[in-house]
Amino acid sequence: MEQITIEPIGFIQSPYKQKFAIPRQPRLVPEAKAKLRFVGEFNREEFVRGIEEFTHIWLLFRFHETADKGYSALVRPPRLGGNERKGVFATRATFRPNGIGMSAVKLEGVEYKNGQLDLLLSGVDLLDGTPIIDIKPYLRYSDALVDATAGFADTRPETQMSVSFSDEAIVFIEKQKNYPELRQFITNVLKQDPRPAYKKKRTSQQDYGMSLYDFNIRWTVDGEHNHVTEISLAK
Ligand code: SAM
Repeated sequence: MEQITIEPIGFIQSPYKQKFAIPRQPRLVPEAKAKLRFVGEFNREEFVRGIEEFTHIWLLFRFHETADKGYSALVRPPRLGGNERKGVFATRATFRPNGIGMSAVKLEGVEYKNGQLDLLLSGVDLLDGTPIIDIKPYLRYSDALVDATAGFADTRPETQMSVSFSDEAIVFIEKQKNYPELRQFITNVLKQDPRPAYKKKRTSQQDYGMSLYDFNIRWTVDGEHNHVTEISLAK
């Protein structure tokens, strides 16, 4: 079969340092700030002239972390509790032929400093280091399909999860002056209930950990409640 060669135009710098706990779609956690850093011949202002007129852009990217793991025709969407199988093309699953993802994200700004072109973004659902293969402006008149319905994924996933922090975690957060939204960011990530579907059925208290920015965050889940026990600097 004919092969297609695709070259990244840039890479994402994101607070999500591992797949676990990344929201399942963009804009679910608006505090997730990221940079798209252009590389090589694409690191030129001409490529983005006029883009600041758009509030949102589409990013096309490669699911690079899982791309070498192949794909399945049938996948188990987390929405369906991980039990029912659907065709991969009926889902947004990462394990897909060609491993290409698409996310509409908020464009916060364009920065060109010391010869480096970056787009400033928020609400991303992308792992740090994700290769970007194309960008297109989001067009409300065409892309926002208000009459569309979406079967098993029709509504924004809402959970009843609540979040609290230990005194130690609050003291740590308050010291992080460069991350004024850190508490809200962690809260919104945990409210999404990042646990895999099969773990959500567990009734006993469970411990979890994730990395956001340079921080390791530990929390326990008891029923519908998350309690952040400890935050530390990643080594
Ligand atoms: N909005 C995109 C789409 O619809 O194509 C992505 C949806 S996919 C269900 C979102 C998940 O992809 C995230 O929760 C994260 O676990 C995973 N992910 C994000 N960036 C990735 C990457 N570079 N490689 C592999 N998986 C990634």
